[in-house]
Amino acid sequence: MTAEYRLLIDGQWTAAGPSFEVKNKYSGQTIATIPTARREDVDAAVAAARNAAPLMADMPTYKRSEILARTAALLRERSEDFATTIAAEAGKALKYARAEVDRAVSTFTIASEEAKRMHGETVPLDAVPSGEGYFGFWVRRPVGVIAAISPFNFPLNLVAHKVAPALASGNSLVLKPATWTPLTAVKLCQALQDAGLPAGAINLIVGPGSTVGEWLVTDSRVDKITFTGSPDVGRHILSVAGIKKVTLELGNTSPVVIAPDADLDVVAKRCAVGAYYNSGQVCISVQRIYSDKQVYAPFTEKFVKTTESMVVGDPLDERVDVGPMIDIQEANRIEDWVHEAQGAGAKVLTGGRREAAVYYPTVLANVNSGMKVVAEEVFAPVASVIACDDFEESLRQANDTKFGLQVGVFTKDIDRVLKAVKWLNFGGVIINDTPNFRADHMPYGGNRQSGLGREGVRYAMEEMTNLQMVAIRQSS
Ligand code: NAP
Repeated sequence: MTAEYRLLIDGQWTAAGPSFEVKNKYSGQTIATIPTARREDVDAAVAAARNAAPLMADMPTYKRSEILARTAALLRERSEDFATTIAAEAGKALKYARAEVDRAVSTFTIASEEAKRMHGETVPLDAVPSGEGYFGFWVRRPVGVIAAISPFNFPLNLVAHKVAPALASGNSLVLKPATWTPLTAVKLCQALQDAGLPAGAINLIVGPGSTVGEWLVTDSRVDKITFTGSPDVGRHILSVAGIKKVTLELGNTSPVVIAPDADLDVVAKRCAVGAYYNSGQVCISVQRIYSDKQVYAPFTEKFVKTTESMVVGDPLDERVDVGPMIDIQEANRIEDWVHEAQGAGAKVLTGGRREAAVYYPTVLANVNSGMKVVAEEVFAPVASVIACDDFEESLRQANDTKFGLQVGVFTKDIDRVLKAVKWLNFGGVIINDTPNFRADHMPYGGNRQSGLGREGVRYAMEEMTNLQMVAIRQSS
């Protein structure tokens, strides 16, 4: 039987507009239906968040912290249900879906702890003559209503990275998850309700970004937008948002740099997981691998061999490493990109094959920086290997991109490490691992076209609050 899901507005599960079907991305079977929000539903959701904003701002810190801790406990208790929902609606291999749930438990736990650490500092106003006789300090105040818009590729933990810090810092929210993957978000909202979150503090609306998303981000009652998704949509949101705070977590063409002293067995294994996990549909997925020419041949051989060992199939099968892409159109798109690269001289070392929405893990060689598979975000299980004259040349090529989210560098040489840290213009430089590394409490976000602002609970809380200065004049 197909489950019927609802939207959440002001604490009520609502049927709203016409329903659409959510499919299992591997089998194509319908797993649930859920309504599309109408304009009046978006209005009602924002109004409910607006009403709840003062309540959330006044809620004692310990209560906010307890709700977040209870949510973490409920996620753990319901972890298998969350994991199978993610595997079905996003096509993510079950083992990685389980890992995503574990990470969301961490994100809520960290938020429950960070809620207690949100504090300001004193300002010595009498450091200037005009401040004599004044006592000063600043505090962080919640911005109010946050619009959270999330992508399909991490339907739980990327939603958690918006919801948990927003609530920890005393805000209310309207959440619009990706249309491909709304079910996990419904289950998360249910857990928050069960954990005691008051009505209106989180509202869930579902529907196309071009209508429902657009109504939300242009609503003048929204104080801040936190968006994770593609650079094109991010740019568009920035152009229509008006005067609001905006955080954008966008794409990347994640590079890896391999120095001649690196342990090639380790590099090949880490790069294969990093390139093909979630079918490469990860913003920090390994895409461009720059290897010193001294080790290019042995590395490439090991990488191709590891790539060929990946188990491809139904994501609900425990043994599977790589499931389908989110949609057949996406699989067609990457097939076209690879054909286009081949037409311009690229060589497929393994993969390059599609079956319905499944694209097989693929290694390309003989690529150049003019090809889409190098210059644009592939967001698919395709990685390119490129030989460079030396370490410095590898760094230069890795840096030669409009993006700047994360980069991985494999070397045991401390001087090379220091040079990489200094040269690379990325939000995160990961040494001896791939760009995929992320701990949920570290500052995370991109430079250049990869975005604006940082997430990572505490850093997101900073962006979800306003500094309020208090100056007290001594009256006698
Ligand atoms: P997307 O197409 O940009 O969609 C992201 C979200 O924006 C979805 O909820 C979408 O709704 C909504 N949206 C679309 N148009 C909108 C509009 N005009 N106004 C408001 N909202 C709108 O991205 P995606 O395909 O789901 O995700 C892939 C992208 O996300 C990649 O570029 C990836 O690099 C990036 N990403 C970045 C990070 C990071 O932390 N930096 C993490 C994960 C993913 P619909 O679903 O209805 O289209």
